[in-house]
Amino acid sequence: VKENGRNHFRFFAPEMNQRASRILEMESALRNALARNEFELYYQPKIDLFSGALVGAEALIRWQHPEMGQIQPIQFIPFAEESGMILPIGEWVLNEACKQAKKWHEKLPISVAVNLSALQFRQDNIVEIITAALQNAQLDGKYLELELTESVVVQNLDAAIVYLKRLKQLGVTLAMDDFGTGYSSLSYLKQFPFDTLKIDRSFIQNVITEPNDAMIAIAIINMAHSMRLNVVAEGVETESQMHFLHRQNCDQIQGYYFSKPLTAIAFDEFINKTRQ
Ligand code: C2E
Ligand code: CA
Ligand code: CA
Ligand code: CA
Repeated sequence: VKENGRNHFRFFAPEMNQRASRILEMESALRNALARNEFELYYQPKIDLFSGALVGAEALIRWQHPEMGQIQPIQFIPFAEESGMILPIGEWVLNEACKQAKKWHEKLPISVAVNLSALQFRQDNIVEIITAALQNAQLDGKYLELELTESVVVQNLDAAIVYLKRLKQLGVTLAMDDFGTGYSSLSYLKQFPFDTLKIDRSFIQNVITEPNDAMIAIAIINMAHSMRLNVVAEGVETESQMHFLHRQNCDQIQGYYFSKPLTAIAFDEFINKTRQ
């Protein structure tokens, strides 16, 4: 502790002590959860608004805790990021999602989207990790989409562009997640090799009742299309929201209106239903 100087003393200040030990506790809990295979991926369908076809799924992690039951990502992903456990957990997610997509391909060639956190994105060997996940699953890169939030890419603009281009070389597609909640500067959006833009749920929620939110949604859709980006609206819960988005030429929707995130088994049944 001492030889590392001032930063460590600050780290062990009394008020920090509790927080630090909480993170350490969570770190070992997350490590155990991974070893015991307690994580599970749920999949939420993405529907093409014009054909009505099921075109993809977003993989969303859950922790099935033996005593506490199901724990949502909001409750553990922040700790996983702070402790660094997001790296092995994220690698598990990538492998699991690719394997699952490959299985579904016997029925339907859908793509699967995986959320990538900042720490993962900045990993030196992220390209190797994704390459290995695709290879293990024998999945063509074009069926894997990586969802990154604005905050992940704006932290270090020049480096981010280099990293994103390296990822694109694997054939994967890139989606900007939660668009509208962060910096949302259109000028740098165009420097990045994104394929898809996901409009955040907070705009979709009030798109029928709040003219301002409707205007923002319309502006985002038009701007994205002028940049040749595919547009996905997340958090679509009602038929009128869906109709609005259809009228505005939004490409795809995701939300409770069509389906909540499903277990792999339930998603498989969803595929069967849409093919009947
Ligand atoms: P996100 O990437 O914005 O994912 C969408 C969230 O909105 C999901 O919450 C989904 O269940 C929820 N959602 C979808 N449709 C609706 C709707 O119609 N209404 C409402 N109210 N909610 C809807 P979830 O699964 O709890 O995930 C929360 C966040 O946790 C995600 O937000 C993502 O940032 C993060 N996350 C989830 N899985 C992973 C993962 O494997 N890795 C990483 N790094 N982050 C993850
Ligand atoms: Ca997402
Ligand atoms: Ca969101
Ligand atoms: Ca997100």
